[in-house]
Amino acid sequence: MDFDYAPKTKDLQQRLLKFMDEYIYPAEKDYAAELLANTAAGKRWTPLETIEKLKPKAQAAGLWNLFLPVDSAEASGYHGAGLTNQEYAPLAEIMGAVPWASEVFNCSAPDTGNMETIARYGSAELKDRWLKPLLEGKIRSAFAMTEPEVASSDATNICTRIERQGDEYVINGHKWWISGAGDPRCAVYITMGKTDPEAARHSQQSMIIIPADAKGIRIVRPLNVMGYDDAPHGHMEMYFENVRVPVGNILLGEGRGFEIAQGRLGPGRIHHCMRLIGLAERALQLMCKRASSRTAFGKTVAQQTVTQERIAEARCKIDMARLLT
Ligand SMILES: Cc1cc2nc3c(=O)[nH]c(=O)nc-3n(C[C@H](O)[C@H](O)[C@H](O)COP(=O)(O)OP(=O)(O)OC[C@H]3O[C@@H](n4cnc5c(N)ncnc54)[C@H](O)[C@@H]3O)c2cc1C
Repeated sequence: MDFDYAPKTKDLQQRLLKFMDEYIYPAEKDYAAELLANTAAGKRWTPLETIEKLKPKAQAAGLWNLFLPVDSAEASGYHGAGLTNQEYAPLAEIMGAVPWASEVFNCSAPDTGNMETIARYGSAELKDRWLKPLLEGKIRSAFAMTEPEVASSDATNICTRIERQGDEYVINGHKWWISGAGDPRCAVYITMGKTDPEAARHSQQSMIIIPADAKGIRIVRPLNVMGYDDAPHGHMEMYFENVRVPVGNILLGEGRGFEIAQGRLGPGRIHHCMRLIGLAERALQLMCKRASSRTAFGKTVAQQTVTQERIAEARCKIDMARLLT
């Protein structure tokens, strides 16, 4: 069996690695300094110029929208790099080495999953209104599913209401952990909620497009993960209060939320896993460099068997994660 990467993946890997060396790693200090300066100036949630000025370079290098799978690209009429998810996975790993890098290539969550969802399940009108500017990197988006009141890992519990009234849907719900909702460029939400609480368990939920400037959206606060707020991206608590959108904003049709979730979350989780594997590889690399350059008790730390065991264990765990993904 041939487990080697496809030639187009290998070519993109080389180009992406070169771009990371030339532009991303050298900009890590700028990113940190800009975030620090923005925070001091009371602008913690302002998008960073460090990322924005690299985007045209990534576009010019043909390293843009690499995530958009061939079938979604065909369904939407737009073009990505023409890769399958399997072919894209090693590229997500390369970008993952720096947590903010994937946005430079328009390959960051939750926009990738949202673009794929609109490409697969949106009407021509919705694609024109939302997918086009998202693929061009002109706007950002968020995915609003999780709710504080219910165990949201079981999405049948999600209880935001999406009720039809004439030619509109009225949405009421309380959400949290909504990544990207605090970004001033976030122009659109894909929201999950119940259109029919009496229907069969997996036919109660639907997904709907809500413009971020719709009346009745209230952002409450950013949440912390182990003390980090992930600014300027962030994960927000928010309310939808009597928000009204046209009936055409429903994706695929009432009661089909789970069908969409299957299509959206699968690839999204693989992208997250591969990016994290990329980050773990980088951490291991840094550990090896440090252990080789530091001397304790007459030999380098790398020569101490306890360190060798730790490095070997880390190597095995990363490869186990890669196999599981
Ligand atoms: C950084 C971050 C970003 C996020 N971004 C978004 C976002 O953009 N949009 C969004 O909608 N949500 C987002 N989430 C929320 C995330 O999807 C939920 O936290 C997750 O689905 C779990 O739901 P819950 O928090 O309600 O936990 P619960 O469902 O209450 O789960 C509680 C516990 O039950 C365990 N558990 C659940 N199911 C099983 C099972 N089958 N077997 C064994 N144990 C189980 C879990 O491990 C957990 O410990 C984000 C979360 C984080 C941390």
